Amino acid sequence: MMIYDWSRNQAQKNGQQTAITLEDERITYQTLETESNQLAGTLINIGLKPGDRVGLLMEKKPATIIAILGISKAGGVYIPLDGHSPPERLAKIISASDLSLLFVDSDNFQSYQSLMQQEAVISSVPWIWWSADSPLKSAGEVPQFCYKDVKKHENVPHQIIRNSKAPAYILFTSGTTGQPKGVVISHRNIITFINWAVAYFQMKAGENTTCHSPLHFDLSTFDIYGAFAAGANLHLVPSDISVNPKKLSAFIMDNEIDQWFSVPSALSYLARFKAIPDGGYPKLKRLLWCGEVFPLPALQYWMESLPGVQFTNLYGPTETTIASSYYTVPEIPADDEEVPIGSPCEGEKLLVLNDQMQEVPAEETGDLYIAGQGLSQGYWRDSEKTREAFSRFVNRNGKRERIYKTGDLASVGKDGLIYFHGRADYQIKSRGYRIELGEIESALGESDDLLEYAVVPVQKQGFEGTTIGCAYVGKEKLNGKLAPAIKKRLREKIPSYMIPQYWMEFDKLPRNGNGKIDRKKLSMQFEK
Ligand code: AMP
Repeated sequence: MMIYDWSRNQAQKNGQQTAITLEDERITYQTLETESNQLAGTLINIGLKPGDRVGLLMEKKPATIIAILGISKAGGVYIPLDGHSPPERLAKIISASDLSLLFVDSDNFQSYQSLMQQEAVISSVPWIWWSADSPLKSAGEVPQFCYKDVKKHENVPHQIIRNSKAPAYILFTSGTTGQPKGVVISHRNIITFINWAVAYFQMKAGENTTCHSPLHFDLSTFDIYGAFAAGANLHLVPSDISVNPKKLSAFIMDNEIDQWFSVPSALSYLARFKAIPDGGYPKLKRLLWCGEVFPLPALQYWMESLPGVQFTNLYGPTETTIASSYYTVPEIPADDEEVPIGSPCEGEKLLVLNDQMQEVPAEETGDLYIAGQGLSQGYWRDSEKTREAFSRFVNRNGKRERIYKTGDLASVGKDGLIYFHGRADYQIKSRGYRIELGEIESALGESDDLLEYAVVPVQKQGFEGTTIGCAYVGKEKLNGKLAPAIKKRLREKIPSYMIPQYWMEFDKLPRNGNGKIDRKKLSMQFEK
């Protein structure tokens, strides 16, 4: 079984069923199959080899999903790239990926051109124009081929690799030193989760499901392959809708959405503006979230407004593929109640261990490790980071298991469920984005006008969740006037979601007993 088999099976069973919808554009399972076959054939013809990396500098559109399937069928490994990221950061990812090909669409052409100015190595990567219109004039070479050319190719069901241990995609996530880490995920990793999820949620053919996450986040993998495994109609959520509660609400209603899956921040936003209509969304059956804690007031609002809907909390890092545990919330939680991250999904195991790598007693907090079928083979060409995060554990039966250290703190409740207690390190989640505060500090380190600085999480009560604060000491005291200039420079280095919202100038940063910057105290000062 490979990840392209689900849509292939649907094309054979019910090819005229809509596979993907984006606003007025719809494509059927038959079109998805035919065009991805044609693309696979074209890629094989131009010499793409099994395991070659192919970058996708493209928006979330039906054509991009056709590209993903075509690349997989040709044996390639796809790497979704965020065209909104600063060129300097994107260039680091592209160089580290050692790409054989780069797909570019018209929406990302400008970003592609800035990239070429950034890194000479990028102009040597052959590129493909993946938009229906004619390619825009480029400073570099002409594209290898265009979207239009592919349609001339024969429709043959290519399947160059039939080994499910082969990598399917690499997703780059924030790295402490400023170099993003590439998590390598195999076909089998994805298949294990999708098989469990489609059965658990009883997803059915013809249902309307959503893809809210950008393609460089692994939640989108569940959206895409879950929909194809079930034979559902996958509605791609346009990115501007997330910050517009009215539009988001209308999207769910008008498209008769059966299943919604996203990070909680989109849902919190809607709750903050109380945008759910009276009578709720009559078609909505399931609401799933993952990636961070759903702020309780927002979850309570959703559950009160939609009494018939199933609400499920999914938990897991990119390194263990989409999600590793789940908890369906049985009733509206009370104000002092903690919603657990629940029980392991089938094929996964969650372990709460102490420093001696022994399981901690019930209700005691320890480090959360994950074992099982979802575990990535490691970080792309980074054996040191892989060794740090992935190790072996000898279980009670003396069997050695490969485990991943999540960096999360957790406990096992008396009820046998797992509870999340935040992070043991400086990784945070802010509006659903995974951010290493070290990556922001490393970008700040390039500023000449700062004597010292610390980037800390700032917990805001209510709907907002975690935000970011930057405490700094300038070489000159400028009464806060330095912050806008630093922010401007940061924007060239890190994505906008990593830019601290709160800035505070100090004469010197507070230190604790052992001389380290007192980050807890700083967080508290921002939270005042
Ligand atoms: P990512 O790799 O972007 O999926 O981020 C993984 C991290 O997000 C985890 O290690 C947790 O810190 C956090 N996370 C994921 N799901 C949840 C959840 N349901 N509740 C709380 N934190 C979560």
